[in-house]
Amino acid sequence: MSENVVIIGSGPAAHTAAIYAARANLNPVIFEGFMAGGIAAGGQLTTTTDVENFPGFPEGISGPELCDRFRAQSVRFGTRIFTETVNKVDLSQRPFKLVADEQEMSAKALIIATGATAKRDDIPGTRDGELWQRGVSACAVCDGALPMFRNKPMFVVGGGDSAMEEAGFLTKFASKVYLVHRRDELRASQIMQDRAKANPKIEFLLSHKVVKVEGGQGVESVTVQDLKTNAERTIAAAGFFFAIGHVPNTAFLGGQLKTDEAGYLITTPGTTYTSVEGVFAAGDVQDKKYRQAITAAGSGCAAALEAEHFLSSH
Ligand code: NAP
Repeated sequence: MSENVVIIGSGPAAHTAAIYAARANLNPVIFEGFMAGGIAAGGQLTTTTDVENFPGFPEGISGPELCDRFRAQSVRFGTRIFTETVNKVDLSQRPFKLVADEQEMSAKALIIATGATAKRDDIPGTRDGELWQRGVSACAVCDGALPMFRNKPMFVVGGGDSAMEEAGFLTKFASKVYLVHRRDELRASQIMQDRAKANPKIEFLLSHKVVKVEGGQGVESVTVQDLKTNAERTIAAAGFFFAIGHVPNTAFLGGQLKTDEAGYLITTPGTTYTSVEGVFAAGDVQDKKYRQAITAAGSGCAAALEAEHFLSSH
């Protein structure tokens, strides 16, 4: 027997889709993954501390607690959740086939909400168990406003639009932001570069690399190396942010859905339709622009409504 709708993912997109699908009596299934993408179920929100920009929580809420609440709401309406990773799918015919860690399943409609993983570089001091999430982060929008960073110098690594945007955002709180990029030329669009260069609080360290990040309870200093002279210097700082891009979690699809060159699923603009009829995409796996919990939730809602419409017309 085929399930009506199977949702793959565990973040705001997946659970919003499940809540809507469950309330439409579609009896949805979620595969939330087991350490899929290297992080616990709940996705990227579980790697952040206080979430202060999700409406409905005027006092803020911790990322993991927000994820727990999403999950509880899915369960309340009858969603069946399996803590298994989907390793393979066959989208060549309907019902679609899924192969997870411990079971196989077929589904009349599929919602892909597997998110993206922020890239991190393997720099001493930034690893798990070191200063990761204690001053080192890969999300300035999530963590930049924390009191520990107020009026202190901070670092951003990367040369793309995200790095420019995050550096600019951090100048609202930081005394100064050092922007480290490995080449002389930035990858960011001209307008974003111009804006960052015009910001007196941002100092560019071009053709530099980060050698190590040091500290105790939090970040205290960052050592950088000038790649042209090999000279190293250590600069006091309270925060360190990776902005070196994201990797969408689409490898398990084996190229069966259209993606852009970076691997993000391509959806028909204004919808959650992917290149295969009956397969919908929501959240960061199809969004490299906004990447916010609330935009992910919105697209999860749209995916469930579109899946419901698809099922009722087939
Ligand atoms: P990106 O454009 O892929 O840029 C990643 C940057 O990180 C590049 O400068 C890259 O250096 C650097 N990098 C990658 N791996 C590195 C490593 N291991 N060590 C050091 N540096 C490393 O990613 P993004 O900035 O996240 O942007 C992704 C997409 O979202 C883009 O299409 C962007 O235009 C879009 N976006 C738009 C906006 C906006 O318009 N408001 C805001 C954010 C993002 P190299 O340049 O040397 O490769």
